[in-house]
Amino acid sequence: MQGYYHSIEHFGTVDGRGIRYVLFLSGCQLRCRFCHNPDTWQKGCKVISTEKVLSDLLHYRHFYDGSKGGITVSGGEPLLQSQFVAELFAACQKHAIDTTIDTAGYYDKQNITDILPYTNAALFSIKAVNPEKHRWLAGLDNEQILSNLRYLTEHIPVTLRYVVLPGITTTTEDIVALANLIHSLPAPVTVELLPYHSLGRQKWQALQMKYTLDDVPDATTQDVASVATLLKAEGITNLI
Ligand code: SF4
Repeated sequence: MQGYYHSIEHFGTVDGRGIRYVLFLSGCQLRCRFCHNPDTWQKGCKVISTEKVLSDLLHYRHFYDGSKGGITVSGGEPLLQSQFVAELFAACQKHAIDTTIDTAGYYDKQNITDILPYTNAALFSIKAVNPEKHRWLAGLDNEQILSNLRYLTEHIPVTLRYVVLPGITTTTEDIVALANLIHSLPAPVTVELLPYHSLGRQKWQALQMKYTLDDVPDATTQDVASVATLLKAEGITNLI
């Protein structure tokens, strides 16, 4: 089976445990204002087969095995091509390769049930808990995303990723809402705070799109630490 993709990173170290083969699929329905890869929004014309990904992956597997890593399929939104991911992950599991999905959660529930039997873990990014702020930040409502998050946490280990956007996602109200969401999930999750940076802006300019966060400064170590402190005060301690 073939999938639409954007790029491949052979030695990823920030998208899951250990060293990872990271396949970035193309296509995404969200429109995050801080998106680093707006060139992944459309499916484009680059395609790759599951067989090609697997043979490429096996070529480098000693790196992944040695670090307890594996493969992460990211995007765009990888769950929009769930049949492709299911076939790929099923093949990976036959070779005992660890599989992680990196999703923003905007997909039909059926898509995740397709891949669950073959998926070891998920990275799940949540842009904002408040629905209006989410709509402003990501272009669409978060109702389906939150429902998919709940479902996913019932089945596999989830790392919840939250972008620290100074002054936008960092208010006490935002962080209390995030903590309440985490407390309400059916299983514990790990939380990863990602500092916002504006490096994606050049891509927006190259695509002749207006970048709307020019007034927002990059997040500092202190910004991230403040959010972590607020979360801990709300009883969220499983932070990485
Ligand atoms: S979900 Fe990811 S790929 Fe899609 S717009 Fe947001 S940041 Fe970009």
